[in-house]
Amino acid sequence: MQLSIHSPVEPIENELFRQKQIEIFIKRDDLIHPFISGNKWRKLKYTLADARSLDKTHLVSFGGAFSNHLLAFASAGAKFGFKTTGIIRGDEPRELNHQLFLCKQFGMNFVFVARDAYRNKELLFEEYFKNDRNAYFVNEGGSGPLALPGCAELLDELHETYDHIFLACGTGSTLAGIAQGAIQRNLKTQINGIPVLKGAHFLENDIKALIGDQVPFTLHFDYHQGGYAKTNPEYLEWLSNFNRTGLLLDHVYTGKMMKAVFDLAENDYFQPNSKILTIHTGGLIGLLGLNK
Ligand SMILES: *Cc1c(COP(=O)(O)O)cnc(C)c1O
Repeated sequence: MQLSIHSPVEPIENELFRQKQIEIFIKRDDLIHPFISGNKWRKLKYTLADARSLDKTHLVSFGGAFSNHLLAFASAGAKFGFKTTGIIRGDEPRELNHQLFLCKQFGMNFVFVARDAYRNKELLFEEYFKNDRNAYFVNEGGSGPLALPGCAELLDELHETYDHIFLACGTGSTLAGIAQGAIQRNLKTQINGIPVLKGAHFLENDIKALIGDQVPFTLHFDYHQGGYAKTNPEYLEWLSNFNRTGLLLDHVYTGKMMKAVFDLAENDYFQPNSKILTIHTGGLIGLLGLNK
């Protein structure tokens, strides 16, 4: 199972960055695939390979109704010949949103479950699929140990070394994979995460549980803009100005990450001559949710 990866690194020109004498680049993982976008292919790659090696033909995963993971999962499942089921938190909506509509196009089956029941994913899997010997459990967000090596591989595509890498964090597994990869490759690059959830201090331990205590990374907790999928007028204005430059960011993940880099630059967080790589982790279908 392979997707050929097209994810160039592009400079981001801005007066602020010139003033501060820093260079900012963006790795365009959003270009990897229109729907298996950004970090999601990297996270799924070895999970799908594991399912295939076990002769499993039916992949089951979990998410909220706006999950970028479920869309990538449905699309990747279809592309590589798996049947897919999405177990979705909350009641069945009267009208499918953009993500679920696209999941359905890729042939995904839906199971909608109440918020309480949704918490115990192993139990749900057991309940619905214990008699399906072809069923294979994929955690919410595609997270877990098998998500790490695919994310680390991003580093092998870089032709330069950077002082910092920045990316948005949901579960933190993409960051964990990249941080572990940086250690394995002896890179001095500081890996910086921008949690998009409010009060996401648990991420520190979640990430350490995956990769151990010795791996240096920094989480910047003050850039969630109010919480998961929350926005505010100042942030939205910043985002629409940024998007007018022709590089689209979504409001849930990549916009918050980029706004953080601008704010940190403004506050002289970076030494002059620093080279900073941001990662476009995709998720652009989510932007359509702003059009209400
Ligand atoms: C899923 C997602 C993330 C978060 O990835 P984690 O590995 O859960 O931290 C970041 N950006 C975008 C666009 C995403 O869709």
